[in-house]
Amino acid sequence: MITYPEIEFFEKPSDICNDALRYFTDIRNVWSGFRTCYSDHVDFNEALLDKTKLPALRDLYSKDSEKSEAKLETLSKKYNYSFDKPLEFSFSYYENLLDSEDPVEHYFAQKWFQYLNALKFIAPKVKMGHESPLEHSILTFKIKNCSRSMTHQLVRHRLASYSQASQRYISEKPESLDFVIPRKIQENPEALAMVQKHFSGLGMLITGLKALGVKNEDIRCIYPNAMPTDIQVSMNFRELRHFIQLRLSPHAQDEIRFVAFRLYQHLVNYMPFLWTDLELEGI
Ligand SMILES: Cc1cc2nc3c(=O)[nH]c(=O)nc-3n(C[C@H](O)[C@H](O)[C@H](O)COP(=O)(O)OP(=O)(O)OC[C@H]3O[C@@H](n4cnc5c(N)ncnc54)[C@H](O)[C@@H]3O)c2cc1C
Repeated sequence: MITYPEIEFFEKPSDICNDALRYFTDIRNVWSGFRTCYSDHVDFNEALLDKTKLPALRDLYSKDSEKSEAKLETLSKKYNYSFDKPLEFSFSYYENLLDSEDPVEHYFAQKWFQYLNALKFIAPKVKMGHESPLEHSILTFKIKNCSRSMTHQLVRHRLASYSQASQRYISEKPESLDFVIPRKIQENPEALAMVQKHFSGLGMLITGLKALGVKNEDIRCIYPNAMPTDIQVSMNFRELRHFIQLRLSPHAQDEIRFVAFRLYQHLVNYMPFLWTDLELEGI
């Protein structure tokens, strides 16, 4: 008979998505090793997304290798298959390669094995809409030199944690004020001139207010939304999917779309399955 539950404390949080990133980064580094040794013209990301690029790996590897052609052929077929259908890949192939005496082959196989193990757990769950495992993995990133108007849109996504430099404690230097100007305005010389003229008086206004003893916490009320800022964000992978889907949309504003796109770019290569069930507009 049980009366009270037990609690297991994890030494390290269960973080499959970031584990996958680590293994993937290792694989990418091995690939960089291939590139450095053999050639420069095969891009890892291209190869991952476009399997037609993969025969090049076999060619490159076989060029200088002392291994038999047959073995290389088998090896490249296996990698080829794994790039093509990572999750349906038979793990037994990798188990065989794990015994390889070739250190490169062994290392590559080991990393793929770890990476696929991480994906094997999580990808089918996402596919069937069981997304809560994604909430245990959190991506932390910092967006630098963005506008306050962008961060105001960003923080509306409540299921994330944010830390932002306070304008109360950071004293803006009137002589070196800079602003985030939207691309569309920058591309329109007439509009750009009007905006720059509007901002040009701000430095003098800040200096004047400071001379009158007005504190930063009150001066900030005259700052425009274009004032640059940095913000650190921690967002779990379930919310990241949601955020990217909403903010990648052509209906979203240009600066926050850029942020959504950079996040998508960062994640798509090592977690392609996160996006296959979503209808992403604008990419
Ligand atoms: C193109 C675009 C235009 C926009 N325009 C405007 C605008 O003009 N004015 C404006 O005010 N906002 C606007 N927004 C912001 C929008 O209304 C949302 O506040 C913002 O997108 C965050 O939504 P979210 O679903 O990510 O919320 P989050 O807070 O990140 O929540 C994530 C999800 O959790 C659930 N959830 C969270 N809290 C609750 C709750 N209290 N009750 C029930 N379910 C909850 C919902 O399923 C929600 O989708 C706009 C957003 C976009 C993308």
